[in-house]
Amino acid sequence: MSAGKQCETVRVVVRCRPFSRREETAGCENILEVDDRLGQITIRNPKVPPDEPMKVFTFDSVYGWNSKQRDIYDDAVRPLVESVLHGFNGTIFAYGQTGTGKTHTMQGASKDPEKRGVIPNSFEHIFTQISRSQNQKYLVRSSYLEIYQEEIRDLLCKNNNKKLELKENPDCGVYVKDLSSVVTKNTTEIEHVMNIGNQSRSVGFTNMNERSSRSHAIFLVTVECSERGPDGEDHIRVGKLNMVDLAGSERQSKTGAKGKRLKEAAKINLSLSALGNVISALVDGKSTHVPYRDSKLTRLLQDSLGGNAKTVMIATVGPTHKSFDETLATLRYASRAKRI
Ligand code: ADP
Ligand code: MG
Repeated sequence: MSAGKQCETVRVVVRCRPFSRREETAGCENILEVDDRLGQITIRNPKVPPDEPMKVFTFDSVYGWNSKQRDIYDDAVRPLVESVLHGFNGTIFAYGQTGTGKTHTMQGASKDPEKRGVIPNSFEHIFTQISRSQNQKYLVRSSYLEIYQEEIRDLLCKNNNKKLELKENPDCGVYVKDLSSVVTKNTTEIEHVMNIGNQSRSVGFTNMNERSSRSHAIFLVTVECSERGPDGEDHIRVGKLNMVDLAGSERQSKTGAKGKRLKEAAKINLSLSALGNVISALVDGKSTHVPYRDSKLTRLLQDSLGGNAKTVMIATVGPTHKSFDETLATLRYASRAKRI
């Protein structure tokens, strides 16, 4: 496959959240300018005089503070889910510092149709499409797991403290042994599955927010379609959709973490940097080696990153001067994922 073609399979977009009330009352400065027409974000270093040149980054699309959940879905995600319905694999990542809108973007508030994020919107998309089909039969299964400190937990299983293993076999590639897989027939059922998993993410841990900022959550939807061909035989195609709310990208070492915390931090950074390396090797097109094996996350997603699979990375950033360093780091990470 040519480098140009591979490029199309990875889309990188950036979403900037609005000021929070707290940032507004604290009189925080805005350091970002979002030009959605040009797909550019301009960042200003608050520590240097305003006439210093600013840094400009270009992406496939950028979304400003007033972007709607629908816009993100329709523009950035819908084509990927469409290709999953046609039997290809796809992965959507939300990447960014804690508090910048990863969970808002992926999950949103599922009860309010305006605020539904990527995951519930994909459910609606998938089941609407299925209800319109005439000659196909579909089977939709879902799994929900978490990777925390390079350990995999099933979010749909009651005994979810059990650590699951990654296995590999020639027929089905890399898979998680004993991971629950739930068949769902409509949006209500699959949303129920998502809610169970979300509850299980918070159980047994003192600080939900802390945990979610340090773990990767992956919602996997497998869409199997069988269709009677002109030859009278049933043909089956399978597409996998991975929707990933990544751990916070903030550099943990700065916060003075020690012992267990520091080890944990190193592991979080490891899988995020492994992911960056995999994506940039794919985008590069010339790399002969894609380092999937460097982390659980990239191993698990191996068959959904590169090849015929499509990837969308949604990098999320905050608008204020307080997060200048982290915002710049996120924009650099995202732009490296796009560099040719
Ligand atoms: P993260 O998952 O990256 O830690 P959250 O999704 O929890 O961040 O977002 C932090 C806060 O900012 C939440 O209160 C969320 O509702 C709000 N927020 C994030 N992005 C947006 C947005 N695009 N529009 C409105 N509010 C947002
Ligand atoms: Mg979150």
